[in-house]
Amino acid sequence: MLYRLREAGFGAYLVGGAVRDLLVAGNPKDFDVATDATPEQIKNLFRNCRLIGRRFRLAHVVFGREIIEVATFRANTDDGTGDREVENGMLVRDNVYGSIEDDAIRRDFTCNALYYAIEDFSVRDYTGGFEDVQAGIMRLIGEPEQRYREDPVRMLRAVRLAAKLGFTIEPATAAPIPQLAHLLGDAAPARLFEEMLKLFLSGHAVASFEGLEQHGLFAELFPESAAALRTNRSGALRRVIVEGLANTDTRVAAGEPVSPAFLFALLLWPAYCRAMARLQKQGMPAEEAVRLAADVATADQLERIALPRRFSLPMQEIWLMQMRFASRQKRRVFRTLSHPRFRAAFDFLLLRQAASGEHGQDVVFWQQAREQSGRELEASLESSAGSRGDLPVTAEGARRAPRRRRGSPAGSADPAAAE
Ligand code: ATP
Ligand code: MG
Repeated sequence: MLYRLREAGFGAYLVGGAVRDLLVAGNPKDFDVATDATPEQIKNLFRNCRLIGRRFRLAHVVFGREIIEVATFRANTDDGTGDREVENGMLVRDNVYGSIEDDAIRRDFTCNALYYAIEDFSVRDYTGGFEDVQAGIMRLIGEPEQRYREDPVRMLRAVRLAAKLGFTIEPATAAPIPQLAHLLGDAAPARLFEEMLKLFLSGHAVASFEGLEQHGLFAELFPESAAALRTNRSGALRRVIVEGLANTDTRVAAGEPVSPAFLFALLLWPAYCRAMARLQKQGMPAEEAVRLAADVATADQLERIALPRRFSLPMQEIWLMQMRFASRQKRRVFRTLSHPRFRAAFDFLLLRQAASGEHGQDVVFWQQAREQSGRELEASLESSAGSRGDLPVTAEGARRAPRRRRGSPAGSADPAAAE
């Protein structure tokens, strides 16, 4: 692509994440190209090219399963044509073309503003990014507060790229984040969802989570979960998240699949426990509360992050299955085992056990149940019926509330006292 653009007389460079990742010996997962050709000129050169985007017009050139993004150099200046538009400090349109230097300084971080040139195999650096990459530093180009106001998602990108690359966010870049975190409320919920997948499903989920917490961003993204984590004295809810994210990282490293539904089941588990505790405190029976709490926790979250239904439904099933694990009724046991979400829900139960030291009996039971043949399982359920057979199917909050430890009042503000 670079050669074709050059042969046609245009300047063309590999830019952004790919150059950065190659310099830190990483494996770039996608390639971005910057050029002085306009989108229309790019389209004329490549048959396999589509022009996309309004806010930020660019060309997608498709090679099999690979899509290369080709963007025309942008300038950070308003030329008066309405091609660059800022609303309340937020950049809503960015289509004023410029020189390569202009293009470099409107990018987010210095490490993302390096250009690899094929004519002399050099890396062009207009912002000091080369040294910053060597030193492992994330540094915002320009005045940090203004750059975050233009696009608040840059705060998440700072944390995500620092987590991924093992970089440190330099002090002036980090300083404004906690005070500006609330600006994420103006970001598009669908864009935030995409950003969550990059933060948590790219193999650096634990570091990302810790970074978000450290810079005051987690509470902005997941307010109910953050509130539950704050009041959870045992720390078990936090351990569920961290353990779960660590497993996710291990799976990604091993090339195993990871699911957004399971991820959000983890991240919103504290919010779910909190909603359930509140409903039960209001006197709602446990069976009803577990369902309503799932809806409440989901609806609250959707105000921030657009979680598509194809993920929120299985997420809720993973939660509801947790309550089913307490039942030893024959019919229920068989239904639970054949549920499409059994695997994921059982993995979730393992996390809760690791985090709280509880649920050991349930883990042993279901581990055996899924290894036994139907006949063996039936026989063992019949022989144990009446002894430790039918545990009530209730929310843990309800089941354990009466013997809440250290005399804290029933229904206290600790949703996970049960965990
Ligand atoms: P990765 O692909 O590993 O997530 P990346 O840096 O390549 O990281 P992309 O979203 O692919 O991220 O963006 C490509 C390049 O576009 C970035 O390297 C950066 O130069 C520029 N860029 C992306 N998002 C922004 C933004 N919000 N503000 C300014 N520049 C941006
Ligand atoms: Mg990229």
